[in-house]
Amino acid sequence: MFAKILIANRGEIACRVIRTARKMGVRCVAVYSDADAKAMHVAMADEAVHIGASPVGESYLRGDKIVAAALATGAQAIHPGYGFLSENPDFVDQVTAAGLTFIGPSAASIRAMGLKDAAKRLMEKAGVPVVPGYHGEAQEIVLLASKAREIGYPVLIKARAGGGGKGMRRVEHPDDFSEALSGARREAKAAFGDDRVLVEKYVDKPRHIEVQVFGDNFGNAVHLYERDCSAQRRHQKVIEEAPAPGMTPALRKAMTEAAVKAAKAISYSGAGTIEFIVDASQGLKADRFWFMEMNTRLQVEHPVTEMVTGTDLVEWQLRVAAGEKLPKTQSEITLSGHAIEARIYAEDAAKGFLPATGTLHHLKFPDAAPEGATMRIETGVRAGDAISPFYDPMIAKLVVHGKDRPTALAALGSALAQTEIAGSTVNTAFLAALAADRDFSAGDVDTGLIGRHQEALTVVPPPSGETVAAAALAASGAGAQAAFDDPWSSLAGYAHFHTVARRTRLRHGEEDILARVSVRPDGRFEVALDAPYEAVNSHDLRAVPRLARWPGHITVFEGATSYNFAVPDPLAKADEAAAASDTLRAPMPGLVKLVRVGKGDAVTKGQPLLILEAMKMEHTIAAPHDGVIAEIAVEGAQVSDGTVLVRFAEQDQG
Ligand code: ADP
Repeated sequence: MFAKILIANRGEIACRVIRTARKMGVRCVAVYSDADAKAMHVAMADEAVHIGASPVGESYLRGDKIVAAALATGAQAIHPGYGFLSENPDFVDQVTAAGLTFIGPSAASIRAMGLKDAAKRLMEKAGVPVVPGYHGEAQEIVLLASKAREIGYPVLIKARAGGGGKGMRRVEHPDDFSEALSGARREAKAAFGDDRVLVEKYVDKPRHIEVQVFGDNFGNAVHLYERDCSAQRRHQKVIEEAPAPGMTPALRKAMTEAAVKAAKAISYSGAGTIEFIVDASQGLKADRFWFMEMNTRLQVEHPVTEMVTGTDLVEWQLRVAAGEKLPKTQSEITLSGHAIEARIYAEDAAKGFLPATGTLHHLKFPDAAPEGATMRIETGVRAGDAISPFYDPMIAKLVVHGKDRPTALAALGSALAQTEIAGSTVNTAFLAALAADRDFSAGDVDTGLIGRHQEALTVVPPPSGETVAAAALAASGAGAQAAFDDPWSSLAGYAHFHTVARRTRLRHGEEDILARVSVRPDGRFEVALDAPYEAVNSHDLRAVPRLARWPGHITVFEGATSYNFAVPDPLAKADEAAAASDTLRAPMPGLVKLVRVGKGDAVTKGQPLLILEAMKMEHTIAAPHDGVIAEIAVEGAQVSDGTVLVRFAEQDQG
């Protein structure tokens, strides 16, 4: 076994690899960027090496710096985690050329599966069922359009270099083909520098079911059953589970055999996943599944497989890379119970799952597993850490295991309801709604489920009167006393100082709320609120509210839903209002991508002024009013939250 390894990754996966390595007595070297100098994975590792600035291109994607760090610290092997360099065959070549071991498959296996079209041709040859479609080299529009007709609409155009759902377009009708094709090509070119596509049949009622495979360097390959990852938004997974709901012995046998065949076809070594798409329109049938792609690395959702098979896949990875045989034979790998993973993200579900940033001022996971279940919290952040725009906004993976699916689902719901996160917008309420969704609970899931139920899954009910009252009370100054968690019971001192009603202003979303807090002679208090809320009286309350205070805010937790109340500072507000009229500030850190106007230009209200790229998305900054540009940010500038992007010239309003 290795004495020391380097982990070429960050966040929860780096922490997760360190835990297993430590258990095995292997020392760990972490690498980090500027933004991660104080990150959890750095704190957990035995030693850490700084590899560059915060953008991934200057740090986590710099194979040269990572290999140099491994050599300098005497690490013998490199674990790539997932994402970043994990599926980059040139990096594998760099690692092995330096005399180090890559903890993963060979460069040749990665190359064989790297492009969706070539991988599909290879799998067809190996006798693995592949989605009907065109995977050829020729790319003329006329040819692609005629192939689409042959395949039959609806079709899916996919970037052959694709990943993360980018460069993918579903086309319903031949008339829309050429426009969808240009869109997919544009996106693919920008994201992967390769605009070649494949066209395939869009599968009806599609379910995403994948098989975990594992190979060693002695020609052995096994599967560790399937995972269902059909709960997706923006073609990206949010809840994954094992086994797949409704799986039949016949389909399982066919899929796992095909997966092992695929792994053997490329002499696969290490952890890999064969992703299949399944047509569930007539239930799960053994002849209705097709190969989609292979991920030649450990997957984000690997913990559900570990929980149902009682294995540690990272331990297997280290053993196989160190030259050992697979720890178990196929017949020794058995399934037990049901596991579900929910990905907790900093994102705004109600705004189309827009990624969010922020400092996690308050972060509390359940202390213990819910009744009848076991639980794993996989995270790479602690309270006080930031979700920066540089990296994936995942905060944690909440993984539960129970004797059957209903038990695991109930445990997931209860664990989400006990999770408290304040400082950024998070998706816990959405995840809880999905876990409780009638179709999802029944196991009737397909990749379109979230889209169909989006409205219901993302609607946030207005806060209850009790929630608003708790926030008002906490904001009213009662919390001046330190270590104040329960506004309902800490009023003794408050009553002493404020015997008269006190007015407090709160902001919830776009709504301004005025509350009057008063303490009665008997020590009880009353919070009077404007309609639609009603007065809340302390002795009518059912439970102590759970809340968190953070700069300028109070967050109250009601089940898995968190309600953020801004507590405006009247002085700051006046300042802001004055500034707002002549300056535009960056709403989040990002890159100034395109500047459309120059100094001295007259602009009209609503005119796009510049594009800010943040959280891997483009945001157009438009003029809030007519005016003349006095100053504007330069193209290519990296700006932080609040940086002035545009200043208008002072104008005679006439
Ligand atoms: P990426 O590599 O960009 O993530 P995938 O090929 O893995 O792209 O596909 C992502 C998701 O898109 C799948 O999980 C599935 O939900 C959907 N999808 C892919 N291919 C098809 C298809 N032929 N028919 C219907 N849905 C599909």
